Amino acid sequence: MPDLIRYIDLIKKGNVVAFPTETVYGLGADAWNPTAIQKIFTIKGRPSDNPLIVHVSEEEQVHEFSDHIPDSAHTLIEEFWPGPLSLVLPKKSKVLDAVTAGLDTVAIRMPDHDTAIEFISKTGPLVAPSANKSGRPSPTKSEHVKTDFGEDFPVIDGEATKIGLESTVLDLTGDQPEILRPGSISRKEIEDVLGFSVHESFFDHMERPKSPGQKYSHYKPKAEVRWLGAEEEPDDQDCLYLLLTSNYGSSANIINFNNDLDLLARQIYDRLRQADIEGFSTVVIENFQDMDHPIIPALLNRVQKAIG
Ligand code: AMP
Ligand code: MG
Repeated sequence: MPDLIRYIDLIKKGNVVAFPTETVYGLGADAWNPTAIQKIFTIKGRPSDNPLIVHVSEEEQVHEFSDHIPDSAHTLIEEFWPGPLSLVLPKKSKVLDAVTAGLDTVAIRMPDHDTAIEFISKTGPLVAPSANKSGRPSPTKSEHVKTDFGEDFPVIDGEATKIGLESTVLDLTGDQPEILRPGSISRKEIEDVLGFSVHESFFDHMERPKSPGQKYSHYKPKAEVRWLGAEEEPDDQDCLYLLLTSNYGSSANIINFNNDLDLLARQIYDRLRQADIEGFSTVVIENFQDMDHPIIPALLNRVQKAIG
């Protein structure tokens, strides 16, 4: 565990600090300090209508932000927390508009990461979007944060994140739970635990999605990103190929994921960033929609946005 004292002090003084979680690195600020939260929007270049997820270290802290916690939330918390599931609940009136972008709901999760939990247990609840410049691939290594925000930026060091995609965002404020952003916790897992069906809205109404973040350009490297064509051979030296099922053997510009979609999820943002560092013009990804794996909706959502 890294020494956290300096970082806890920075948060208490109203600064932002990047920290590892199991999904991606987060850019944390005190959830009750409007000046600190404003720094997140400025540093990231994040549109002000895109709300932030509150990260807690104890279930009890949910009550600071919401006093309408349905039974379904308790059931899901019991099963999936700590973990990559953000729950959207009605917010208490005192929750800052800067956190919710003026919405009357607030998203909350508890990360499954020892350093993150230790940190939040000392600072109190933190709002934490991904620690990247808005629009860029999310950070899954501390060096990605430094690439975007500079060598001297305060980042709590950790390993590469173990999931590599952001949390599933589930809205519990309507008649039926609704997935607003897909993540590694799948619709089926949620339905199995709740015992009834949930809605998925992230592919409809992209113009005015209920999760404001879904309408913005995201996860984009400088390189173009596209799908591998049906009969296409991976033979262009300007392209970085990310292959799943075809077998061409690995080389400097061909990465074989050998049917492992969890590995692709863990590495996708790093590979998009690698393409820029190594000067590839294009990242070419083999389509995985016909494969059978619960992470497909989340991975597809990220790749489609990177393609733009
Ligand atoms: P990020 O933390 O950058 O991965 O983005 C957080 C995601 O959660 C964005 O897509 C937000 O739009 C979404 N989000 C956060 N709070 C809410 C909320 N109260 N209602 C709906 N979506 C939310
Ligand atoms: Mg983000």
